[in-house]
Amino acid sequence: MASDVILETRNLTKGFKGFVAVNDVNFKVRRGSIHALIGPNGAGKTTFFNLLTKFLTPTSGSIIYNGQDITDLKPEQIAHLGVIRSFQISAVFPHLTVLENVRIGLQRRLGTSFHFWKSEQSLTTLHDRARALLAEVDLEKFADTMTVDLPYGRKRALEIATTLAMEPELMLLDEPTQGMGHEDVHRVTELIKKVSAGRTILMVEHNMSVVSGICDRISVLQRGSLLAEGTYEEVSGNPQVMEAYMGT
Ligand code: ADP
Repeated sequence: MASDVILETRNLTKGFKGFVAVNDVNFKVRRGSIHALIGPNGAGKTTFFNLLTKFLTPTSGSIIYNGQDITDLKPEQIAHLGVIRSFQISAVFPHLTVLENVRIGLQRRLGTSFHFWKSEQSLTTLHDRARALLAEVDLEKFADTMTVDLPYGRKRALEIATTLAMEPELMLLDEPTQGMGHEDVHRVTELIKKVSAGRTILMVEHNMSVVSGICDRISVLQRGSLLAEGTYEEVSGNPQVMEAYMGT
């Protein structure tokens, strides 16, 4: 049986010229959970995400994914194992349609397989899968819309679709509701809940109503160190967290 823990960091540390941005972090994500990483600006959240996907190399410590030490793997090898970080909006092509962007996401995943491209049927499969992904994120009616013309909240949904195209087992979402109005926050939150079925999600999120609404576990980073971990109730009731983060 697969372990309850999908991702673990052991003593993970990243220093930049004497400044320690991530400091000896021991962290576990449970399989199937929606786990939030929160903390004030400069706490090290982005650096931590960059370490998990190997956009940055740790100074010391290790990263274990599904029981395998992935610390020395390359970013594309980690992605291939199913750890996929949401693409930033800038990474979708603004002058292609929404459907074309999802197809490109699928091609990224499938294009490495020579056998896939041998049959004409594969193109139909690609098209059908792109349509199905658009349906999953409720973007069907925008399929032929130029991405540049999509409303902001819908762009984030497209970003999630292109992430899903990579067949994630663990999705890393980087502030998925940032800069959104109430309605879009609600829509994207519901979407995250929906796509979490059968997957694990680790997200950096500042909006506490989103965190309390959908996250099973919360880890709080402060000045590079893990300050607290638990359910929203546990973490929000922790006096150290209130002092460091909630400003009370
Ligand atoms: P957060 O995402 O929580 O706001 P970051 O991970 O972006 O925090 O940054 C954590 C700390 O590390 C900050 O003090 C930031 O200035 C520093 N930092 C991040 N990247 C670099 C870098 N490439 N070189 C030097 N310092 C960095």
